[in-house]
Amino acid sequence: MTGNGDRTLGTSPDFEAARHEMVARQIRGRGIRSQTVLEAMEIVPRHLFVPSEHTAMAYADEPLPIGVGQTISQPFMVAAMAEALSLEGHERVLEVGAGSGYQAAVLARLAIEVVAIEAQSVLAKGARERLARLGYANVQIEQGDGSLGWPSAAPYDAILVTAAAPRVPQPLLEQLVDGGRLVIPVGPSHGQELLRIVKHDGQTTRQSLHACRFVPLLGRHGWRPNSRDAKQE
Ligand code: SAM
Repeated sequence: MTGNGDRTLGTSPDFEAARHEMVARQIRGRGIRSQTVLEAMEIVPRHLFVPSEHTAMAYADEPLPIGVGQTISQPFMVAAMAEALSLEGHERVLEVGAGSGYQAAVLARLAIEVVAIEAQSVLAKGARERLARLGYANVQIEQGDGSLGWPSAAPYDAILVTAAAPRVPQPLLEQLVDGGRLVIPVGPSHGQELLRIVKHDGQTTRQSLHACRFVPLLGRHGWRPNSRDAKQE
């Protein structure tokens, strides 16, 4: 990957030790085997992606608030979703739900280019500035409705959705290359399943990976803003 500025910003010994323990216990300890994913989780300074009042909890085994009712996902989920994309380093990746930019930073270490879409303008601006400050030159943050994908930069080798969709958005399948992978949580607000979908010759195969619980994907192919499942419990 091209960005490496976080090497200096993430090297406080306490944070490094906490990150190392997070990877050992929460990530490797729960079965993540991809060496490149483990390395990315060791390097990306998660404490610089959470609001200052939550810095002390940055490496805890849980999602954390990032403002406007949204969350940065639990570290294990970030790693499991990244592993499920089966990235080798040459791919172009779309992330829907950029939030803090943390998952995009992890993906940027596993792929050649990442386009990440965030619906909330305040989060998109924050993620864009943070990733620039940390030196991630291969991530582009855009503000908009990611349930439509991001057609101007399509197609993508892999697509990751980090918010819960009512069903698989058709535009995302259309924006995948042949052989491409889509990882997405699908289901109602009280619980979803994380799906891994592979596209081959215009057909798709689906595998269910984990039970999970994400904030809702809103937008044209997501939940309607005033529906019951668009509201977080
Ligand atoms: N990946 C993020 C990170 O590393 O911080 C966390 C993602 S958070 C669990 C889900 C995000 O999806 C929220 O920031 C939310 O605003 C965003 N979102 C919801 N619907 C969206 C849509 N249609 N398009 C783009 N982003 C959306």
